This record gives sequence, structure tokens and C-alpha cells, in this order.
Amino acid sequence: MYVVALSQPCRNPAATQSQQTKPYMQSEKRKKQIAILGSTGSIGTQALQVIAEHPDRFEARVLTAANRWQLLAEQARQFMPAAVVIANEQHYEALSTALADLPIAVYAGAEALCQVVESNEVDMVLTAMVGFAGLAPTIAAIRARKPIALANKETMVVAGELINRLCRQYEVPILPVDSEHSAIFQSIMGEVSPIDKIILTASGGPFRTFTREQLESVTPEMALRHPNWDMGAKITIDSATMMNKGFEVIEAKWLFGVEPSAIQVVVHPQSVVHSAVQFADGAVKAQLGVPDMRVPIQFAFSFPERLQSSFERLDWFTMHDLTFERPDTERFRCLALAYEALHRGGNAPCIVNAANEIVNRAFLEGRCRFLEMADIIEKTLQKATFVKQPAYEDYLETDAEARRLAASLLSPQ
Ligand code: NDP
Ligand code: MG
Repeated sequence: MYVVALSQPCRNPAATQSQQTKPYMQSEKRKKQIAILGSTGSIGTQALQVIAEHPDRFEARVLTAANRWQLLAEQARQFMPAAVVIANEQHYEALSTALADLPIAVYAGAEALCQVVESNEVDMVLTAMVGFAGLAPTIAAIRARKPIALANKETMVVAGELINRLCRQYEVPILPVDSEHSAIFQSIMGEVSPIDKIILTASGGPFRTFTREQLESVTPEMALRHPNWDMGAKITIDSATMMNKGFEVIEAKWLFGVEPSAIQVVVHPQSVVHSAVQFADGAVKAQLGVPDMRVPIQFAFSFPERLQSSFERLDWFTMHDLTFERPDTERFRCLALAYEALHRGGNAPCIVNAANEIVNRAFLEGRCRFLEMADIIEKTLQKATFVKQPAYEDYLETDAEARRLAASLLSPQ
């Protein structure tokens, strides 16, 4: 029912073969068992709210974090997963002591993240961890034939081609969680004709109206104040530079099989139209709603059904202005750099992602100025070794090389 065959022109990220629908279209009796990678983050905690709203439908089977072991322990006590993983092994003792009275398996380390998703009992994996670190567990989950609810966009940015190949090979669907991609996905549901154009909306971030001179001196505190969305620090900074939108262009290309020239970024400061798709006849379908990530998270969990929710509804009579603008790639060069990486292909997006992770953190820690971020990413893209057809190991090497290069380009403190 939900399956759109891969051969059909309108590429649907949930496309897969019928046998894979079994765990996905689970029997009515069994609750969907969800592994949340990154349960202590912004997406992870909202995913747990969705699970708490639907205890008859979903269960948290696995919860993981990097460092925040106390919050992970609290979540485990409330949701009683079969297993938890703390990526930073230093916190293993503290976490296992905190959970000693409960029948919950406690693991630590990056390798454990890959192993827990493979459990027979897991029906779906929500990739809500941040950055390149999401790549290995996502691949492990695909190889174990687990449907993916994809929040970790860096995985598609770095290795979209490989991920698509593996999804076809293991017949695994990807359900987008990113609000824009969920909107695109919802707009193509039921369509059999190709996408003519994707209209990828962007809030423009907190500095949308800033001049280049003003951007010279913006601080991390200012960048962390996103006008519409309450998100983790890394993606909030990426939204301020618009690298996030660049990454979403790359994510859209791989998820929906469209060329970059058919993806139009449109700045829409109100974040009500979450994105849209135009078809050959000129018809445009969009998905609208209040900015609330629990909506796309819940839809990824419940697809193809829609479940009741208590989330806020759109109030049509208070929405006076829905406005749309062209993005300015002169002021927001990160967006142009992401397009350039996409055009170069190969490991270029992986280089940009790694350099971005370095400058993003450096900016947050006061070691890099706002406009310097794009300079360093651009230089790293020029200097790093280009690989036209990267394999998994090439991505690991590229990531390490680009991080080294970008770090060496930061001004000495
Ligand atoms: P947060 O920083 O809020 O949370 C990240 C989560 O990942 C935390 O649980 C963190 O653990 C864990 N984590 C971080 N690094 C590692 C690592 N190396 N190994 C294992 N776990 C790790 O991020 P967000 O929730 O904002 O974003 C998560 C992903 O979802 C990102 O890829 C982002 O681009 C994407 N996304 C987010 C949206 C949002 O609204 N927030 C919207 C669309 C996409 P700990 O708490 O211990 O640090
Ligand atoms: Mg988004």
C-alpha cells in the first residue's frame, strides 16, 4: 500500500520491495519497537514525547547518547528500553550504576551503537544523533534491514550515493524526519509523475536581514537565538550560516532523485510552508503547519497512517503575512559552497561536512568568526584530496583529512 516502486518516476524515499513491509506494516498487536540514536538531543527528546503520546503504538527499545548520561538514565527509567548505549565510554560506570536496579542492558562505545540497532526486536531506527558520527550506525541499521527514520542529515550529505545503494540492496525504506523533506515526501505521496521542481523553504535564520558588515561581529549567543525552531546547537549555527539549507539541498537530491537545478531554495521567514513540489502541469503541492518537529517525527513513525496528536494547529486568521524571498548567497556563502560540493560530486560534500563540523564548533567556542567559517570551508574544499567514486573507507579518510585541514586553517588563539 505505501510502497512506491523504485522504477516509478516520482522517487519516494520510502520506496522498497514488498517483503520489507512486514516489520514496517507491523501487525496490529505488536507495538513498533523504536531505537532512538541520540535520545537526549532535541529530536530525541521530541521523539520520546511522540512515543509517550502513543503508548499503544510505539515503544522505545533502545536509547543512546554521547555524554549526557544522567538524562539518558532518567529517560531509561521512564521508558524502560531493553538497552541503552553511552557513546563516551568514560560514562559507562556511572550510567550502569544509575540503572543497576533495572533490567536494562547498558553498553558503551561507538561500536555498541552499531550493534544495538541490529537487534531482531528493533522495528525502526531513528537517527537523531548529530554529525558524521551518524554514518556508521545508519549503515549498520540498513544492513540489518531496519527502516530508517532519518533526522541525521549529515549521513545523506556525506554518503548519499552509498546510502541509496545500500537501501536498494537491503530493501530498506528511509522516512524523512527533516521537516522540509517530510513536507516534500507528503507532497509526492500518491503521485506517479516526476517531480518538476522542489521548492525547499528556509527560514533564513536569525541573520536574514543582516548586512555583511553586521555579520562580521555576530556572536554565538546571537546565532543560537533561532526565530522559529528550538534545535540542537550544531544545527542552529548551521541555520544561521544557511549551511543547513545547503545540506538539505544535498539531502533532497539523494532522497528524491532530483538534480540540484530542480531544487529551488526559497526563504520563507514564517516557517509555515514546510516545503513544496511543483509538477509538470504547474500544479504545486505543499505541506503546511506550525513549526513543530514532533509532527514529522510522528509521521515517520506512523507512516502511512496519520495518528491523532495534541500538537498545536495552524490558526489561519492570525497568519497575516506569508512571505517568500530569494536567498542571498553573497551574504550566506555556505549555501553556495554546498551547491558547489554537489556539482563537484564524489567526496566533495563529505569534505564540506567535515570542515563545517570543525568551524561550527570553533565558532560556538569563540575560536572562529562568523564569516570566517565559509572561508575555511572553501579553502578546505580546495585543498582536500578529491575522490570521484568514494567507497566507505574513502569517506572515513576524507572526513579525517578535511577535519585536520580545517583545524589547521583556524586562526591561532
Ligand atoms: P542535539 O545536539 O540536540 O542532539 C544530538 C544527540 O546526539 C544527543 O543525544 C547527543 O548526545 C548525541 N550525540 C552527539 N554526538 C554523538 C556521537 N559522536 N556519538 C553518539 N551520539 C552523539 O541535535 P539535534 O537533535 O538538534 O539534531 C540531531 C540530528 O537531527 C542532526 O543531524 C540534525 O541536523 C538533525 N535535525 C534536527 C532538527 C531539529 O529540530 N533539532 C531538525 C531537522 C534535522 P548527548 O546529549 O550526550 O550530547
Ligand atoms: Mg530542516
